[in-house]
Amino acid sequence: MKGFAMLGIGKVGWIEKEVPKCGPLDAIVRPLAIAICTSDVHTVYEGAIGDRHNMILGHEGCGEIVEVGSEVKDFKPGDRVLVPAITPDWNSLEAQAGYSMHSGGMLAGWKFSNFKDGVFSEYFHVNDADGNLALIPDGMTVEEACILSDMVPTGFHAVELADVQFGDSVLVIGIGAVGLMSVAGASLRGASRIIAVGTRPVCINAAKGYGATDFISYKDGSIEDQVMELTGGKGVDRVCIAGGDVSTFEAAIKSLKPGGRIGSVNYLGSGDFVNIPRTEWGCGMGHKQILTGLMPGGRLRMEKLSSLVASGRLDVKPEITHVFHGWDHCAEALELMRDKPKDLIKPVVIP
Ligand code: NDP
Ligand code: ZN
Repeated sequence: MKGFAMLGIGKVGWIEKEVPKCGPLDAIVRPLAIAICTSDVHTVYEGAIGDRHNMILGHEGCGEIVEVGSEVKDFKPGDRVLVPAITPDWNSLEAQAGYSMHSGGMLAGWKFSNFKDGVFSEYFHVNDADGNLALIPDGMTVEEACILSDMVPTGFHAVELADVQFGDSVLVIGIGAVGLMSVAGASLRGASRIIAVGTRPVCINAAKGYGATDFISYKDGSIEDQVMELTGGKGVDRVCIAGGDVSTFEAAIKSLKPGGRIGSVNYLGSGDFVNIPRTEWGCGMGHKQILTGLMPGGRLRMEKLSSLVASGRLDVKPEITHVFHGWDHCAEALELMRDKPKDLIKPVVIP
């Protein structure tokens, strides 16, 4: 089979590999659509998870099952399935401890294009099929199904980590495809005010639709000064971080009220340390909590989040700005994700 791979840091191309083998609990899936992620850009061009050679890229997509293992109970060949970016081993101790995304070691629930070949391929392997796959709901397009792999579960996870409550004021730093889902999630959780940070007009428009009430550009001065101006010097109750870099935590701490909470899902692609401003952190006593995390994956989460889309409570269509037909467009779609033109949120490729 052919797959679109990371050949080494900064290098991509098509390679030939054997079709993966299906273990007793596994499934082999043929992609119906795949999406490119900013994380693919960090992985390939920043070498953020280290050097990888001839590793097929991609962790976002949906597909049709072509084979299941002898122990798989709930899925069969021909089923059209949602595939989470994170596919934990559900019988691991980490999963039993509540951190399934780290099953087998830190970040090891993230298997596609990290510890094994990813989904930009004619076929891909899914471990623990009963625990990780979910059926695509009737009426959902394959493009929408791609957005459920990673963007919805990750953007919502920032909201979960920040523990947004009814009436909270929430700062969402970064309103790309992930941060937009944090805006949507904060709205669903009852935030009263959502201040969004970003500049691409297409993202600002989408954020308005998802419930953002105020906008800040990180290019027009410091985020914290603009937040303080908007909030009469009080700051916000919660911060979701889905953009920026290691220095963004400083702005987040400075923008937060005492007792507030930061939920970050940003993938820090470079920089060795995160600085926390001592004074604004209450000299260590401000009860300003920082929670960060990899999105939780798995079937239950896929079923619940897809039910929000199926019921019309969440519209993921505004996320999809570019749809390509044909595998040949993988390189172009990855380049787009790297360049982030003004009209881009998320590119999807239908093989
Ligand atoms: P995008 O690049 O599309 O969006 C980033 C956003 O951050 C944009 O709104 C951008 O603004 C804004 N931004 C850029 N620089 C700064 C800055 N210096 N300060 C504040 N805001 C800034 O990324 P995605 O939405 O695709 O992904 C967001 C992050 O989430 C990535 O790091 C990605 O790797 C990570 N991720 C994490 C996962 C997890 O499980 N934890 C899973 C998937 C993704 P502008 O409008 O100007 O472009
Ligand atoms: Zn992703």
